[in-house]
Amino acid sequence: MRVYVIGAGPGDPKLLTLRGAELIASCPVVLYTGSLVPREVLAHAMPDAKVLDSSGMTLDQIIDILVAARDAGQDVARVHTGDPSVFGSTAEQMRRMQDLGIAYEIIPGVSSFTAAAAVLGRELTLPELCQTVILTRAEGRTPMPDREKLEALASHKATLALFLSVTLLKQVTKALIPSYGADCPVAVVHKATWPDQKIVLGTLADIQEKVAAEGIRSQSMVLVGRVLTATDFADSRLYAPEFTHRFRKRKAQGTSKKAAVREPAPRLDGGTTGEPTNHAGPGTPGTIAS
Ligand code: SAH
Repeated sequence: MRVYVIGAGPGDPKLLTLRGAELIASCPVVLYTGSLVPREVLAHAMPDAKVLDSSGMTLDQIIDILVAARDAGQDVARVHTGDPSVFGSTAEQMRRMQDLGIAYEIIPGVSSFTAAAAVLGRELTLPELCQTVILTRAEGRTPMPDREKLEALASHKATLALFLSVTLLKQVTKALIPSYGADCPVAVVHKATWPDQKIVLGTLADIQEKVAAEGIRSQSMVLVGRVLTATDFADSRLYAPEFTHRFRKRKAQGTSKKAAVREPAPRLDGGTTGEPTNHAGPGTPGTIAS
């Protein structure tokens, strides 16, 4: 018997991994984390599988289900949103499983921060401009360790991916403006890759107002950083002709320049050029406010 801790991906059911789908289809018990896991993902389950929503359960109740499955010799698909390794509350379950001698295996998933970058059509790291992404959250009911306060993290000016923070934009922008500048681009992606996805583009100065105007209060990824709009960045070394590596031998030098033709970046001034709808995943046109 084994518990498979499966990342369901951000929403689009086609972003579930093949391995995740295969395991959901073979486990007699499927325990999923509520509304952020799409029905289509659960539709892989066998018709007679026990499919249970854990969102109203306590940790003890979840563990009781795993123990009952263990006693019945039944594998469990424990399905979490996005990827189980970030803000998944999976560690406490795995600790209990270890204590109980229940074997588990983690199947990674597409996290909402990568899904948000995808629907924006952007890369979160750009040569010379920013080579670091910080995955974090604003301090809400869950306290942050002192050294991880947003003000402290902001000093790095890294690209920020903020989970669980869309209702805290007032304190977020206040904490970030001194380091990033009020004109720093922000993208809020609500329900990335779902059919009702919404994208709000702005700056640290105006994003709170724009998000409030859209009535967004949950299930959103907040991305912050100059990478969101930058066009004037260097080409990476990877494709430079004089840069040799295992898969490519040296070519004639002198042709590495910034790309002459580039897709326009999403605009933050209300214009229509480069609106990122084109990048939205299958079935996810959503709406964009900028
Ligand atoms: N493990 C998940 C995160 C779970 S915590 C992951 O890897 O994505 C829940 C938070 O994740 C939400 O508050 C929101 O900030 C973010 N989130 C999850 N799914 C999302 C989606 N489809 N679009 C935007 N944000 C999402």
